[in-house]
Amino acid sequence: MGILEVSNVNKSFGGLKALHEVNLSVEEGTVHAIIGPNGAGKSTLLNCFIGRLVPDTGSVMFDGTSLLGIKPHEINQAGVSRVFQTPEIFGDLTLLENVMIPAFAKRDGAFTLNAWSSVDEQEDVHDKAVSLLKDLGLHGKSHELAGTLSRGDKRRLELAMCLVQDPKLLLLDEPTAGMARADTNNTIDLMKDIASTGKTMVVIEHDMHVVFSLAERISVLAQGTVIVEDHPDKIKGNPKVQEAYLGGAHL
Ligand code: ADP
Ligand code: MG
Repeated sequence: MGILEVSNVNKSFGGLKALHEVNLSVEEGTVHAIIGPNGAGKSTLLNCFIGRLVPDTGSVMFDGTSLLGIKPHEINQAGVSRVFQTPEIFGDLTLLENVMIPAFAKRDGAFTLNAWSSVDEQEDVHDKAVSLLKDLGLHGKSHELAGTLSRGDKRRLELAMCLVQDPKLLLLDEPTAGMARADTNNTIDLMKDIASTGKTMVVIEHDMHVVFSLAERISVLAQGTVIVEDHPDKIKGNPKVQEAYLGGAHL
């Protein structure tokens, strides 16, 4: 039994079947990638893991508990943190504040810089945030406003915002989208470092370089259906996958 077990999930938007009988099993301590052409249903699936969408039918189990009908902040409190396709940070706050907020949000189920926390608790979170910013190479910018960061640094900041919650499962939707190659490579190294700590990660990714350097298991989604789930070595040569990617143009 994986830490995340998705069984027979279906989701339609009006007449459009975005997900059809999707099954997925993510082993604890592994990096599992979900790849597939644009519009395949990857983000829709991820949104079903975090309570932004509710599947029409099927089940999503995390750590033995059903996630269906549970609110996003409760799923977060259960140990699921996520990075979206478009960075979601507080541009008018400092990097340090950005990293401290999710730690309190996990505890309280709401995004506030909580004035009622004890001084000790504030200090613990502060120290953890400082140490994470250091790990992610953002230490020198702790007191700058997050809105001024480059795209690559915003991603780093978002990763710090997830890691401060010490999640059991980290979900990443196209973490290198819109990045220049240098930033992409830095982000891959960073994700490898995080993976090496034994963190369970589900990565949705378009960039094959990223996928094949990180993932231990890959599910390929095409037109709302998982067409293959396998080890990366077996994915590249798979004719079904090549067909889904129009003759293997992206592989
Ligand atoms: P991917 O992330 O793989 O590119 P998405 O999950 O975003 O794909 O989209 C899958 C399909 O569902 C697409 O055809 C998209 O247009 C459609 N879709 C996604 N979200 C919605 C929505 N909220 N309402 C209507 N259609 C949607
Ligand atoms: Mg998407």
